[in-house]
Amino acid sequence: MARKFFVGGNWKCNGTSEEVKKIVSTLNDGQVASADVVDVVVSPPFVFLPLVKSSLRPDFQVAAQNCWVKKGGAYTGEISAEMLLNLDIPWVILGHSERRLLLGESNEFVGDKVAYALSKGLKVIACVGETLEQRESGATVEVVAAQTKAIAERISDWTNVVLAYEPVWAIGTGKVATPAQAQEVHYELRKWLQINVSVEVAESTRIIYGGSVNGANCKELAAQPDVDGFLVGGASLKVCILIVLLKVP
Ligand code: PGA
Repeated sequence: MARKFFVGGNWKCNGTSEEVKKIVSTLNDGQVASADVVDVVVSPPFVFLPLVKSSLRPDFQVAAQNCWVKKGGAYTGEISAEMLLNLDIPWVILGHSERRLLLGESNEFVGDKVAYALSKGLKVIACVGETLEQRESGATVEVVAAQTKAIAERISDWTNVVLAYEPVWAIGTGKVATPAQAQEVHYELRKWLQINVSVEVAESTRIIYGGSVNGANCKELAAQPDVDGFLVGGASLKVCILIVLLKVP
């Protein structure tokens, strides 16, 4: 089954409104493959969501970088799934390793957030990935399988899920996984889905790679059979993301 290529840009906690306008205008002017061939989803910080939503070209979509685990209420500092839908934001990134590690988000908590966001109608980019220590101790597959299991146990429909494999040691470090390393984990994740969810879900779910992706390394990564796209951090703040998009297979 052909899986549509997916390129996400995660701007993290970066930018001023002036910088955001500049990135949007660069994206708007970029020559890239059509929306029939690739899903392009950019994820600005919460405060810039309305600005990006209203100024971004219509063939590109917008994602929030997080949302709360249940309906809003007395949760100071949080943003609910309902609020994102109210602003017509279709996507949300959940389980990013920066939140797992810096803010202590457990596999179960991420699973609960994914389930709630999906139940409300959001599409989810769900992130999994191992630390360097876990990789060096040979636990990579076990770690990403446990992270994926906590999601799988809580959802029944994977149509609106994109799974992002982001090795922690490759994020923001310039140390990109080799195409073989990425392919190996993507293959294992797909196999896990096949055994534990279904053949259909394994075949149709997009598994994208994130971690120091840039214009120079994206082509070889994209050529791997189980790499269905990217979640790009640092390079998505630069023209680089357009170069990544130009190399979409
Ligand atoms: P990076 O970040 O491309 O800057 O390594 C990727 C991510 O965290 O999504």
